[in-house]
Amino acid sequence: MSPSPVRTCCWICGRACPLENCKIDEHGLAVHEECYVARVVLKSATNPSQKNRVLETGDE
Ligand SMILES: [Zn+2]
Repeated sequence: MSPSPVRTCCWICGRACPLENCKIDEHGLAVHEECYVARVVLKSATNPSQKNRVLETGDE
């Protein structure tokens, strides 16, 4: 029996993710905490929120 260390990789950045430093997202996958936060921010940024649509009007 060869010891096979569990290599957990962050699926967001693809790098090795130490269990003590990783976070489990809503899919049960290990991610870096910073990657998780970045993803949440990115998700909310992508989300079509109510933006102020400024119509270009000839203001002269
Ligand atoms: Zn990561």
